[in-house]
Amino acid sequence: MSEILFVGTLEQIRERLLQAQDILQLRATEGYPLLQPDEEWVYDTAKDERVCPVCSPHDRRVFRGDEIPGAFPSFEMIGVGEIAPRVHLDNPWLQGECRCGLSLLDAKEIITERLFQELEEVSR
Ligand SMILES: [Zn+2]
Repeated sequence: MSEILFVGTLEQIRERLLQAQDILQLRATEGYPLLQPDEEWVYDTAKDERVCPVCSPHDRRVFRGDEIPGAFPSFEMIGVGEIAPRVHLDNPWLQGECRCGLSLLDAKEIITERLFQELEEVSR
């Protein structure tokens, strides 16, 4: 388990704790910026006979976060670590709604690590 240590004079520590509080508030309201190169997103199709020939080859493929906007221009963030690629919106000849999903691997670890790094920066 990692630790964050706030050191300094009482005044410095107070200042750093207030900065840390601001970061926690910001993240609670705005969340974390995703789609960065260190993220791995795995693609899942519905795995049935209706999966189209465009979506089918993506099944279980892993994409870096920064590859997603280019690969899936109509993608939509539908939850924390959940993306609907909306492949069919980019291919007018495809019928129906794309049922595929992309999920962020180790979402909790990645988000925890980013928060930790931000807090560590203000603790020094
Ligand atoms: Zn699809």
